[in-house]
Amino acid sequence: MDKKIIIAIDGFSSTGKSTLAKELAKHLGYVYVDTGAMYRAVSLFAMQNGYIGAAFFDVESLINSLPFIKLVFKFNPDLGFAEMYLNGVNVEKEIRTLEVSSYVSKVAEIHEVRVKLVEQQQEMGKNKGIVMDGRDIGTVVFPNAELKIFMTASPQTRAERRFKELTRNGADVTFEEVFKNVEERDYIDTHREDSPLIKAKDAVEFDNSNVTKQEQFEKVLQLVKL
Ligand code: C5P
Repeated sequence: MDKKIIIAIDGFSSTGKSTLAKELAKHLGYVYVDTGAMYRAVSLFAMQNGYIGAAFFDVESLINSLPFIKLVFKFNPDLGFAEMYLNGVNVEKEIRTLEVSSYVSKVAEIHEVRVKLVEQQQEMGKNKGIVMDGRDIGTVVFPNAELKIFMTASPQTRAERRFKELTRNGADVTFEEVFKNVEERDYIDTHREDSPLIKAKDAVEFDNSNVTKQEQFEKVLQLVKL
């Protein structure tokens, strides 16, 4: 029963990947890694340094700055999961804004960014016992993961979830803006050249548009064979 595995959870934005991943990690005593938070933190860095804005993106400066971007997850026992630190600063809140969401897929297209983050992700999983969610975990980061889940839900359902989450946290956004962002990210994430979002051949697909969190958790747990 001591055998530890890698669980890779990929899928579109706001499909509930992180909720499922967190629950699985807690249940199994595994580490949970939200790779989206890493791409978001790099995007925040680009924003803070004036490399990216509504009408411009200085890709070269961001690439040159990559050695100075330090990303660390620190476990917060009160919350029960790890928070993202960018160069020593807790940025967990700042990386979840719609502004960061509007840039992150452009940042995630850059090959050099992906190389840096994938290397760090592979290092985190080298001892197994990890649940990692993202877009390329089962295809690129851990192609040999013992369990791969691919999550989908309709864009409408996902935008509704995202909208609720953002407004609950006090964001001043409209449903239309959130829906547009979900569609834009889906397009860029599935069409980019480097590591596009696709279902790994051996991944199990879940459409959770009409499934409760509990039902989904139980179904996935049945697939975990230790
Ligand atoms: O998971 P989340 O929605 O926070 O991810 C934000 C963005 O980061 C995605 O839309 C995608 O562009 C990028 N991403 C990625 N590869 C990953 C995780 C996230 O390209 N493994």
